[in-house]
Amino acid sequence: GGLSAAQSASAPPARKKLASWVGFSNLPNQVHRKSLKRGFQFVAMVVGESGLGKSTLINTLFETKLYQPKSIPSPGADRGKTVQIESISADIEENGVRLKLTVVDTPGFGDFVNNDESWRPIVDNIESRFDKYLENENRVNRLKFEDNRIHACIYFIQPTGHALKPIDIEFMRRLHTKVNLIPVIAKSDTMTDDEITLFKQRILADIAHHGIQIFVPPQYEDEDEETIQENEEILSKVPFAVVGSDHVVQLPDGRQVRGRAYPWGVIEVDNEDHCDFVKLRQMLVRTHMEELREHTNDVLYENYRTEKLRAMGVSQDETVFRETNPAAKQAEERALHEAKLAKMEAEMKMVFQQKVQEKESKLKQSEEELYARHREMKDALEKQRQELEDKKRRVETGRPLTPEKGSKKRFGLGK
Ligand code: GDP
Repeated sequence: GGLSAAQSASAPPARKKLASWVGFSNLPNQVHRKSLKRGFQFVAMVVGESGLGKSTLINTLFETKLYQPKSIPSPGADRGKTVQIESISADIEENGVRLKLTVVDTPGFGDFVNNDESWRPIVDNIESRFDKYLENENRVNRLKFEDNRIHACIYFIQPTGHALKPIDIEFMRRLHTKVNLIPVIAKSDTMTDDEITLFKQRILADIAHHGIQIFVPPQYEDEDEETIQENEEILSKVPFAVVGSDHVVQLPDGRQVRGRAYPWGVIEVDNEDHCDFVKLRQMLVRTHMEELREHTNDVLYENYRTEKLRAMGVSQDETVFRETNPAAKQAEERALHEAKLAKMEAEMKMVFQQKVQEKESKLKQSEEELYARHREMKDALEKQRQELEDKKRRVETGRPLTPEKGSKKRFGLGK
């Protein structure tokens, strides 16, 4: 009885052969079609001083004129005093696959006399996108909402050939736990191959020295040979030395290529011997776009969320600080209170919904039980009715109710 049922529940399901085609092997296609219809979302951020070729590279990457060529502001022109955050979206389609691409630009970064706080508006922007996502996630009746978190941040390093600048290090240190960092050497056609090799080594040494985590293709154990090699090739190019160009130039042999023409020859964007553009595009678009989205969700966002929720509780140190600073105490208490209220509200809604669901399923169960009982009783009554009907018919036709017994009695009586 009960024991064997429990045993069978924990036993691995038996492998059964199907007698004919059932159709669930079409499941991957169904899922695939659905996500195709829904489309994919990818948000990339570009950061670097103006004029480093950010817009050109984005146009080159996605082969669209997402950005109009900018007029380079003349020195001294008023460009505001802070880093701006601008975003452009485009729906692009390739072989029936729709991609909503959003590029977030950060004009002004590194362009001021004092760039100490250049990273701050960018961190704020990334965090507010996390907050928005968290808010959407906590809503009880959440409709399908957009994922506007930054999935990759391409950081443009000036091709100086020396080492990273303090602003580069500061930016990466502040950002590496919040976003997938992809450093690139901008306008690498302005450097020789040897210079690039040396510059890359210095950059990587700096990054390691400061404990900065940049995005690299993850190595999984069960990967096939080809993928492992592909990933290693990508890894060997980090930080990618890129060249961007939105125009086509003609080579002496007549071929038309995307590139930049110089008196001594043409630098081809799509030629792996000339620059790392191809490898960057491969990682960003062709092989690791999903990985970037997953890592954003599973690691970067998750850490942020955990930290945020933890901060909603009051720690010991914070209490001491608030006791000694009344204004901060009030402000913090209010913020905390509001956060708690919001959280409580979300939790209450969740609990309420859960309760309603439980109640509903209980009602449904008792409804079914009632229905079953009703059926049983009806069956029993019907049986009784038929028996009585039977009896009645026999009585009416004068036939004995129980023939054997009756005949015996009659014989006995006749004696
Ligand atoms: P942004 O301000 O970072 O968006 O830079 P733009 O993409 O507007 O480019 C600024 C200038 O640099 C333009 O004149 C581009 O043609 C040029 N440029 C863009 N990419 C490259 C490159 O890879 N190499 C060279 N030499 N010039 C580039």
